[in-house]
Amino acid sequence: MTDTKTVVIIGGVAGGASAAARLRRLSESMEIIVLERSGYVSVANCGLPYHLSATIADRGDLLLQTPESLRDRFRLDVRVRNEVLSIDRREQTLAVRDLNAGLDYQLHYDALVLSPGAAPIVPPIPGAERGLVLRDIEDLDRMVGELAKAQNVVVVGGGFIGLEAAENLKEAGLEVTLVELGDQLLAPLDPEMAMPLERELRRHGVKVELGHSVVEIEAGTATLDDGRTVNADLVVFAIGVRPDGRLAADAGLALGPRGGIVVDDEQRTNDAAIWAVGDAVEKVDMLDGSATLTPLANIANRQGRRAADSIAGMPSKVLASQGTAIVKVFGKSAATTGWNEKRLRAVGRDFLAIHTHPNDHAAYYPGAQTLAIKILIDPKDGAILGAQAVGAEGVDKRIDVIATAMRAGLTATDLIDLELAYAPPFGSAKDPINQLGYIAENRMSGLSESADWSEIEQLQTSGWKLLDVRTREEFAEGSIPGATNVPVDELRDHLDDLRGSDYLVYCAVGQRAHVATQLLKAHGISAKNLDGGWTTWRNTRTARSLRDVPKKQLVGAALS
Ligand code: FAD
Repeated sequence: MTDTKTVVIIGGVAGGASAAARLRRLSESMEIIVLERSGYVSVANCGLPYHLSATIADRGDLLLQTPESLRDRFRLDVRVRNEVLSIDRREQTLAVRDLNAGLDYQLHYDALVLSPGAAPIVPPIPGAERGLVLRDIEDLDRMVGELAKAQNVVVVGGGFIGLEAAENLKEAGLEVTLVELGDQLLAPLDPEMAMPLERELRRHGVKVELGHSVVEIEAGTATLDDGRTVNADLVVFAIGVRPDGRLAADAGLALGPRGGIVVDDEQRTNDAAIWAVGDAVEKVDMLDGSATLTPLANIANRQGRRAADSIAGMPSKVLASQGTAIVKVFGKSAATTGWNEKRLRAVGRDFLAIHTHPNDHAAYYPGAQTLAIKILIDPKDGAILGAQAVGAEGVDKRIDVIATAMRAGLTATDLIDLELAYAPPFGSAKDPINQLGYIAENRMSGLSESADWSEIEQLQTSGWKLLDVRTREEFAEGSIPGATNVPVDELRDHLDDLRGSDYLVYCAVGQRAHVATQLLKAHGISAKNLDGGWTTWRNTRTARSLRDVPKKQLVGAALS
């Protein structure tokens, strides 16, 4: 049957453009109109920061489609610089302003898709109007225009976009100061996992001000909350976004507790003729089913497709969101999926944390570099609750495998049996993912016990001694305060000296310490392995936020 309904889509970028193209592929007869306030459709928002450094040199490469190309390919009626002012749900009409012609008109819809995105948050501080945001092509053009005159830039906010802006502005030759209110960068990661990014920024000459905010912007300077002034010809706000629910709220559509539009699992709002997708809507969290805002392109695109399916009368179901995300900061990448330790602690959920520091590929093949991976699992059934990784290479692959495992409902011990592509330039016969499975199995079976870095002080207070089983050379380069050094290969010669105490044993990453704890226990000496070893501990020295929250459960041992 030919479907002649008129579908109007508000917002022509990620979610809106996906919905429009999918709809046309499903129906040749529908009238499809896309209304976009800005001058551009189907823009590669995620690529905007890379034009600042000319990594993406041609601005045109960010414009994936034009109204003309969408008309030719999909017979879409795309109207840029057309802003929807309001929705009349009873009459099923929109009030639209054509910003080019300067006139308003009414537009009827049979089905309406809202994909208006999110609005960058600008702090209410004196001089805020001098700051810039980076959300669309117009913002980018404004920023590029300022760059020519600027020497010093302050980026406010150490999240994904703040980090990308800082990196690319530095690459563009500017002096960059990154100001972040929290005591770590990239809040979706736990502090010890974010630390390598901070080091990488500093290594490239970006000044990082953690635990501070910008309280005033004046010509050429920004004032921090402790009174210091920082040179700032340009200030970039990247402190987050809030869902753009204004049109929806004005039309009486339901908004959720996080301020996003409420939709069902077909992306339909509480009005049967209106769907909503992307950054503007609330998602369902995969772990606990709570309302969440995950402003990510993958989700917006998926939701756009599913909304189109639903409008076309096809089966459609959007699955819960797990927040898988990645960022590159100079030579390092960091990625995450699911929940982090901070969030698990905050809700008092039991978890088991495993830190590993494997090579991204076989150590004997040139160029191998160390990764840091953290996985959080349910100690009862091994369900994977979340994971994070940071390193130079192979971060994306590991987090994507874990994200897929989570979606498929695999447990941590199932990771042992994943057959992953291997040759020396790419991985190891025992891939870091398989190793996580081995460690999880050892911990869950109680084969060995471990403790977490945040338990060190408490264990020391109860009489446990720190035993460093690395080589003397490694020990001389730095150690955890209070540790005694007995290299693992000399341990058997010192058993009598060690008897009579309990030991928290560590090495560089946990492998030699596992051998040592098993040896000590075989000789009747109580021992636990320090999870992630010296490498994780070193990354936690300025990471105080975790310590403030009571520990629920951290047990286990490391072995691969
Ligand atoms: P948008 O893509 O923002 O589109 C909304 C559109 O609606 C806008 O063009 C707006 O002009 C239009 N609009 C709003 N109101 C009206 C109205 N009343 N009338 C007409 N038009 C209207 N995500 C990732 O997953 N990975 C990344 O690496 C990544 N990097 C990013 C980098 C930057 C700099 C930015 C800004 C975002 C990045 N994102 C990234 C997020 C990603 O771009 C968004 O999640 C995605 O674009 C959301 O899609 P959307 O359709 O909901 O909204």
